[in-house]
Amino acid sequence: MRIRPVITIDGPSGAGKTTVSRRLAERTGMVRLDTGAMYRACALAARRAGIPWTDAPRLGELAARMDLSFREARGAQGLFLAGEDISDAIRTPEMSLGASEVSAHPAVREALVARQRELGRDGGVVLEGRDTGTVVFPDAEAKFFLDAAAAVRALRRYREHRPGNGPSFEEVLKDVLRPDVQDSTRKHSPLKMADGAIYIDSTTLTVEEVLERMLRRIPGAGS
Ligand code: C5P
Repeated sequence: MRIRPVITIDGPSGAGKTTVSRRLAERTGMVRLDTGAMYRACALAARRAGIPWTDAPRLGELAARMDLSFREARGAQGLFLAGEDISDAIRTPEMSLGASEVSAHPAVREALVARQRELGRDGGVVLEGRDTGTVVFPDAEAKFFLDAAAAVRALRRYREHRPGNGPSFEEVLKDVLRPDVQDSTRKHSPLKMADGAIYIDSTTLTVEEVLERMLRRIPGAGS
């Protein structure tokens, strides 16, 4: 029995999961668990250890034993690998692709899902990812599927770069769509809506409007 609820937010990249889960955690006093960051960390750790992203058995072992922790860093939640802050190192297009590749291996998923269940065991947690409502916590008290039109998702990503200092919109659109296709068509835990999940299309909604819709559906959160 959990005393505090578990909330899951799944959906494709750029749908607004990160912003919304952050704000939701602040508003409800819950802890945010970014499950995508764990797959990114696995891809980065593999690259550094010289393990190819195709080597399922070694990746599974790595995912189970890597020394990973979420800790406060520079006023925000940071991710640490063996004591090193890797929050920025995992946010590259290469690691987006790496995360999508390593996450397709069942051995990696099993290891990281076990760690996520352990971290969220007592509730009071907002999980963000692709399978948090379908696989990690199918019994969550509130499950959301956050979506948006592909062009809008790409535009949001594009705006995260400083003008003139990043990739073109077309490149960002390609980067956004590629992991989406991989995530939705893979054999194990493909991105799909969980049973009982609430679908929210954020294409024309502000963050505040998305939050209001979610808060109305979270037991005990009111609005
Ligand atoms: O959310 P983020 O873009 O950081 O996730 C990176 C990749 O990790 C996704 O494209 C997906 O392949 C994988 N992932 C996953 N299951 C999750 C979270 C992320 O397979 N729960």
